[in-house]
Amino acid sequence: MSTPSLTTRLEVGSRRVAMNLAAGTLWYVPGSFGIVRVLGPQYSLRCVLFHDVSDTESSFTRGLDGTVSRKDFEAALEFLTKHYTPVSLHDVLASFDGKPLPLRPVLVTFDDAYASISEFAAPLCLKFGVPALFFVNASCLDNRQLALDNLVCYVANVFGMDPINAAIRSSNSEGDFEVRSLTQVFSHFLPRTSLSARQAFRHALTELTGISEPDLASEAGLYLSSQQLRDLAKFNFELGNHTYTHANCRTLSAAEFAGEIDRNKAVLEEISGTKVRSFSVPYGSSVDLTIDLAQHLQRSGYKAAFLAEGRANSTGSPEFHLDRVSVKARTDAAFFSEIEILPRLRRIRNRILATSNSGSQPRHGHLEKAMPTTWNGDPSQDSATGADVSRGNLGV
Ligand SMILES: [Zn+2]
Repeated sequence: MSTPSLTTRLEVGSRRVAMNLAAGTLWYVPGSFGIVRVLGPQYSLRCVLFHDVSDTESSFTRGLDGTVSRKDFEAALEFLTKHYTPVSLHDVLASFDGKPLPLRPVLVTFDDAYASISEFAAPLCLKFGVPALFFVNASCLDNRQLALDNLVCYVANVFGMDPINAAIRSSNSEGDFEVRSLTQVFSHFLPRTSLSARQAFRHALTELTGISEPDLASEAGLYLSSQQLRDLAKFNFELGNHTYTHANCRTLSAAEFAGEIDRNKAVLEEISGTKVRSFSVPYGSSVDLTIDLAQHLQRSGYKAAFLAEGRANSTGSPEFHLDRVSVKARTDAAFFSEIEILPRLRRIRNRILATSNSGSQPRHGHLEKAMPTTWNGDPSQDSATGADVSRGNLGV
């Protein structure tokens, strides 16, 4: 039985540490927030992204790289509240109507439906006076079903990659596709897989491994209960849409928007009694925010859409293309690097590549490897955009 290769994840993690060490040295220079403006003075709204806040990883999350410890999360809140002004989605939307944002605004967001956000992160946010935006997949509520990413992660950790490849072969008409790591599942196989093939893959995984998914989901207890979802408003959390099953939006047809997007919004609003007015693209890639999807969101009354490509938002960033940074740092210097320096460098890189490619979709190649986005919840990044393509940015 083969085991999942962690090589790519470790390489990405090492690059992130190396970049943070190099870039973070600026943190110790007096006036660092002013100096870093030479890399881009127009950095306006900082959006940070978390997934799971827990001191331990399980077979369902180990390898997704989307978990931060409670201590590290608290350190992040300390850094953010000391050096930034936390804002709510309401503040962000008001800024698009002309009301200025405060100095160094930061919006804290969470993706996916982990119960740890309700149990640990939300009380800490309340303690620090930080409002937040939580993008939830309603299919996971009350632990009725595992998110596919957690199911794949569990199978890889417990059974190895063989049943994953067998499930791919049985659900993929193209035949010869083989993956050797979780990274490849999330960055190469799933993004190009239709919703129906994705469901067939999921079914094959449970058949091949003999898993009783309802029992496993209930036993794992990874996700929010409906009551916890309702209670989030007490912590100044607003709910957002992240699709019903954490679908790859790139392959969604207009007809499938109803089941994945409209249904998720309706369920979240019914349970919480609050309005859902923002959308976070699962896996965070701008490639997945198709024109059809953006138009559907606008027609449906959404006010903002979020990505996770780790780039700086300028004052002119459109409300349906707000980027976020996955934060995995542990020191002030590393936070400074991840939030202030790397997003600016990625923005510069994209401008250069867009110019050199003159009109074609920019690809990042080795530059992307040198400046990884900090989260790889899916332990990996989309090869075309550098987005976190896992659930952990697990994308996202
Ligand atoms: Zn996600």
